[in-house]
Amino acid sequence: MRHHHDIQALRKQGFRLTRQRMLILELLRSSERHMTADQIYAEVSQHHPEINLATVYRTLQWLHQVGLLRKIDVGKDRLEYEYAHDAEHHHLICKVCGDQTQIDNHVIQTLQAHILEHYGFEADPDHVALFGRCAQCRAAETE
Ligand SMILES: [Zn+2]
Ligand SMILES: [Zn+2]
Repeated sequence: MRHHHDIQALRKQGFRLTRQRMLILELLRSSERHMTADQIYAEVSQHHPEINLATVYRTLQWLHQVGLLRKIDVGKDRLEYEYAHDAEHHHLICKVCGDQTQIDNHVIQTLQAHILEHYGFEADPDHVALFGRCAQCRAAETE
């Protein structure tokens, strides 16, 4: 089991959740999808013009460090963030149209078991992106 710190636990450990940390955390918490630093900045700065992009980057880094956020590299050096809720999942990302699909952890667990059995290697994939072609793009190609 991987542990995720919750806010109360962090406070007990003496971490300071400043207003901007809470703002960005709440934004990602209520967002259904991943967001890049730029997207977060665009949202936050609408109501809080005092927050600049550098602050957003620093805050995201901090929130990731303490385990409140997950990040994922969706290709082309694009990092996306999401709230680290308990359900572990992974992503299928289409290289053609950029479409993203979420998959359950059990799909990866089958792969993990295979790797462990055949290579003696204990893989620890945490929030991975698998790149390829989505069903729609595959269908379009065969038309
Ligand atoms: Zn995700
Ligand atoms: Zn596609």
